[in-house]
Amino acid sequence: MISITNSIYNAVALLNNDQIVSIPTETVYGLAGNIYSQKAIESIFRIKKRPSFNPLIVHIKSVHDLSQIARDIPETALLLAKAFWPGPLTLVLKKQSSILDLVTGGKDTVAVRVPNHPLTLALLQQLTYPLAAPSANPFGSISPTKAEHVATYFHDTVPMVLDGGACERGIESTIIGFENGEPVVYRLGSLAIEDIVAVVGTVKMMTHDDTTPIAPGMLSRHYAPLTSTLLTANVHKLLKTFSHQKIGVLVYQNEIYNQKITAQEILSPKGSLTEAASQLYAALHRLDKLNLDFIIAERFPDVGLGKTINDRLQRATKK
Ligand code: AMP
Ligand code: MG
Repeated sequence: MISITNSIYNAVALLNNDQIVSIPTETVYGLAGNIYSQKAIESIFRIKKRPSFNPLIVHIKSVHDLSQIARDIPETALLLAKAFWPGPLTLVLKKQSSILDLVTGGKDTVAVRVPNHPLTLALLQQLTYPLAAPSANPFGSISPTKAEHVATYFHDTVPMVLDGGACERGIESTIIGFENGEPVVYRLGSLAIEDIVAVVGTVKMMTHDDTTPIAPGMLSRHYAPLTSTLLTANVHKLLKTFSHQKIGVLVYQNEIYNQKITAQEILSPKGSLTEAASQLYAALHRLDKLNLDFIIAERFPDVGLGKTINDRLQRATKK
């Protein structure tokens, strides 16, 4: 049985013993292990059913530890790290030779960030090694933003969730790589592209490639509920095409009045994209539990975190 506790002491004991622990971050919960333990990293892939070519993110306690993990770090990467760490920005950099192939999916690059969660930062302070962690969900499914989501997925296979409450950002980190020192976006995430552009000027986008994904978040179906999901700019119009099905609706700000709706999630009545992003996965988890025939999601404004929300909803619609 999984134990849900906020004991850093217990987490340290498990991790020092090559076991894995689910950790809270400001983005989503992770499934974490010692980056230098082949055994721990193998368990992460096995438990998550993650294909071995999909690399993990290395979590360090501060930018000072970056040179142990990465080499030949571009100036722009340091600029971004200084601006946004601790925070929801992952940098893909050339790896140091000490980093296990399993962590990087055999690539010569490594993904790294400093998470912004007090419990996990305190945990990292107690460890003599960084933690490798992908999101704590089975491959392809909705990411967990609460300890109970992790417990539902992994009650028999993970010994402990370090309970840090609901994740403040609620969507994965934004992933940036570098080509000739120029930043390239590999995955939209909970740091808005506009914020990155404000620091580095321009960024290239490269967020979708089904044949050779650079990051798993780039696969077109990912972050998906089990219930068939549709994305539309006009929920009312789409509802007209249904008659007897059980429909759940997910909208940004304004409630939709229609008798065909069985359940409705309004992500931010006050119209904050930051709030909507933080609520997205928890709302999808709730809708997914209701045995609906369809989830109809409303397309978000295509600015700031609205872009990230649309990206996740788009991937949730793929079969
Ligand atoms: P997850 O936390 O499950 O969303 O997975 C970690 C994310 O980091 C995935 O999308 C990975 O592909 C990405 N990532 C990790 N290492 C690399 C790398 N070397 N190059 C590109 N993306 C990476
Ligand atoms: Mg993931």
